[in-house]
Amino acid sequence: MNHKSESVDDDLIIKVALKVDCDQAVISIPQGNLENIKVKVKDDQVEVGGKLYRLFKVKVDDYFVVRDIPVGQGFHWEHLEDQAFRGTLIIRNENKKLQIINELGLDQYLCSVVGSEMKADLPGEYLKLHAVVARTAALSMMKAAHPHQPYDLCADDHCQDYRGILRESSCILNAVMQTSGQVVHYKDEIADLRFSKICGGLTMEYGEAWPEFNSHPYLIRKWDAPVDRVPDISRQQYIEGDFPEVWCSPSRGLIPGFEYVPDYFRWTEFIDLELIRENLHQFNYEVGKIRNILISRINKSFRNTEIKIIGEKGEAVIKGELNIRKILSNSTLFSACFNLTFYTDSIKLQGAGWGHGVGMCQIGALQMAVNGYKFQEILQHYFPGVELKKLFSPPPISPLSWEEKRPCYEYANCYQLHRCAYGKSGNGPLDCKGSPPYSEL
Ligand SMILES: [Zn+2]
Ligand SMILES: [Zn+2]
Repeated sequence: MNHKSESVDDDLIIKVALKVDCDQAVISIPQGNLENIKVKVKDDQVEVGGKLYRLFKVKVDDYFVVRDIPVGQGFHWEHLEDQAFRGTLIIRNENKKLQIINELGLDQYLCSVVGSEMKADLPGEYLKLHAVVARTAALSMMKAAHPHQPYDLCADDHCQDYRGILRESSCILNAVMQTSGQVVHYKDEIADLRFSKICGGLTMEYGEAWPEFNSHPYLIRKWDAPVDRVPDISRQQYIEGDFPEVWCSPSRGLIPGFEYVPDYFRWTEFIDLELIRENLHQFNYEVGKIRNILISRINKSFRNTEIKIIGEKGEAVIKGELNIRKILSNSTLFSACFNLTFYTDSIKLQGAGWGHGVGMCQIGALQMAVNGYKFQEILQHYFPGVELKKLFSPPPISPLSWEEKRPCYEYANCYQLHRCAYGKSGNGPLDCKGSPPYSEL
């Protein structure tokens, strides 16, 4: 999709869906002395604290809280969180379901996105990079992500992680303001920037991940290292051999707060065939007892793009990296880059990386920043040929009053597969309900 850019004098206001398609919710607006107010639909209206409204809309000076917001839906870190937000709270009735929406300035939104996607206290060059990438991604997604809805973006991974003000920090606020209004372009169009957490060594070309769309010259396959030359190794060596010397490799040293990286850089999973059969059933395939699973197509970046599942009653051919990741997992497999060993009742997958692998590798970019690279250099490494243009001049963002109260990162970071203090041991943080101390804000 192409977006012609045009410059505007002030800020852009966006609407982000926090919680939709639900029957009830609980909110707090401390400024209005509203604590734990029940919200539900009633006919074609919304009932907020016992009063009926056609549309409930309130702009707060400090923050409001929405309880039990789903995070990481469909992924292994799926859980509910209570979150606090700046700006305007909108509650709508859409076909007898609630829509809880947050309206705010784009740069205010970015202050939370950068901290939600990564971490609040990181090197300034990384934070500036993520701010321009997230601003650009938001703009290029806005019209297409949720067409025909009264909001622009959702708050979950489908668009970008947006988990409210407790993910902000004064460092992020500075990074957003230092890059204020700057948007990444390729030629005269807003770039369609993509990023994922850990590429594993090789990033993937856009057209290989999403062949239905036109490719972009800045989203190409790259070796994620200072010298972009892919070594002459087999896929098996790439996945199972010594860690390659790439930016996102744990061999470059662990960054505090990112101790989970080795769990994803190279990983091993055992999956029961019965689970795969159930998943196939949900995709409307009935193959009977599974006899074998073959990898039938591998792309240039070592990702599997087609697998063949052979059963007693027939075969299923699964195409596309995301479909493959969904069929072979009880949530979504870390990546489509894996070798497969077939056993009688299960399969063993040995894989590399986390996420689709197109565009910027977040952990690789962070390592580059830690190693002294400027944000423009990191941008060129992952998106060669792009340039920055200033499109907006938003007003300064008000300083934070809640930073000291931010919960520890152990709470914020639900990717610690086997270490999460709030999750079931070894099963990920599905039961995570750790509540930040809002009352102390
Ligand atoms: Zn979305
Ligand atoms: Zn990487």
